[in-house]
Amino acid sequence: MTVRAIVVGLGFAGSVLSRELAEAGFEVLALERRSQIAGNMYETVRANGVRVHQYGPHIFHANSGEVFDYLSQYSDFYPYTHRVLGRIQGKLVPIPFNFTSIDALFPKSEADDLEIRLTEAYPDRERVFVSELMNHNDPAIERLGKFIFENVFVNYTAKQWGIPASEVDVSVINRVPVVLSKDDRYFTDRIQQMPLNGYTPLFEKLLDHPGITLRLNTNAAERLSIDAASSRVYFDGEPFDGPVLWTGAIDELFRYSLGPLPYRSLNMVFEDLPIERYQKAAVVNYPNEEEFTRITEFKQMTRQVLPEDTTILKEYPLPYDPEKRMEAYYPIFSAENQTLYDEYRALGAMIPNLRFCGRLAEYRYYNMDAVVERALQVAKEVIRKYAKR
Ligand SMILES: Cc1cc2nc3c(=O)[nH]c(=O)nc-3n(C[C@H](O)[C@H](O)[C@H](O)COP(=O)(O)OP(=O)(O)OC[C@H]3O[C@@H](n4cnc5c(N)ncnc54)[C@H](O)[C@@H]3O)c2cc1C
Repeated sequence: MTVRAIVVGLGFAGSVLSRELAEAGFEVLALERRSQIAGNMYETVRANGVRVHQYGPHIFHANSGEVFDYLSQYSDFYPYTHRVLGRIQGKLVPIPFNFTSIDALFPKSEADDLEIRLTEAYPDRERVFVSELMNHNDPAIERLGKFIFENVFVNYTAKQWGIPASEVDVSVINRVPVVLSKDDRYFTDRIQQMPLNGYTPLFEKLLDHPGITLRLNTNAAERLSIDAASSRVYFDGEPFDGPVLWTGAIDELFRYSLGPLPYRSLNMVFEDLPIERYQKAAVVNYPNEEEFTRITEFKQMTRQVLPEDTTILKEYPLPYDPEKRMEAYYPIFSAENQTLYDEYRALGAMIPNLRFCGRLAEYRYYNMDAVVERALQVAKEVIRKYAKR
């Protein structure tokens, strides 16, 4: 007998779950609150013809070929090496901070001296953490570490998380790399690719299966409810005993009964400009003076050729308020928030046919490759469980 399943949310987590279950013979009802699929990877075309990532720039990078091979069934890709510049003391320098950044910001003799000291101090390393530099016993290296911390990271982190610069703890950013060469790649992963025609067509193909019924503009929290007494899920008022795979915010499913989980949000401000090119790299970070954190120029990632137009995106961090129509972008990690999340998970664990998957449901930062890998794993477990019946 065909098993009916409900999948909530159609980002990578929900779309991969839907596809895998449909392939295994489940009849999947996929519910998405927005009027479009693709979650935070959704792309749209501006009036000037420029394709943009509506929810911020997304670059696929991974070390394992498994996820890339999986996604390659649904789209061709092209290699794309992401490079980022940062505006530091009025100059544009590579981020992560590298020897080119040192050359740009220090007088030549001092820069040469610093690079020799670094190469001698770390003969077998390509990258070090800024905290290692700050704690080095060579005073010149220690000073450089402090310079990078103060000029590249402190204010950026303070802006991103909405805390005073004086409260930024080095432990938050101690794993940020400093590159001991002129290598200016932002990611070092073996695979760095972009979908040839963009993310949305990839998702369209992923969800194109006769076993998947899509319902857009549907807030699943209004259709699903949990009855703790009977440990059952109700859908439109009727008990539903097939798998329910929730990739939305976990606290929303439980009507915020234990309180909302805190997030940081972003105000995404797009600007269409009548020029061919706006900036020297696809992304330029503004760690210090400006209120926004970075500017993305999408044409430099999508390879679109439009000689007279470009579109840029400025990202302004702000607190998330679930009452307002805001996007929850980044979970705020703290012991207290993790405890609250664990309490919601414990409520979910009472319901045998309910599973959580994805960045909102698991309250953690997932890169795209990691969330696809996770969804493939959850799908396998669900399929195995129902095959036994
Ligand atoms: C600004 C930014 C930039 C990023 N850049 C990169 C990058 O360059 N590379 C990378 O690998 N990763 C990047 N990421 C991470 C990437 O966005 C995530 O890996 C990905 O979105 C996770 O997919 P998901 O399906 O878990 O969540 P989402 O993509 O957020 O999908 C969740 C979906 O569920 C829907 N939903 C929620 N609640 C309900 C409900 N009640 N009813 C119905 N539907 C609901 C939402 O509308 C959404 O469509 C970035 C993240 C951010 C915030």
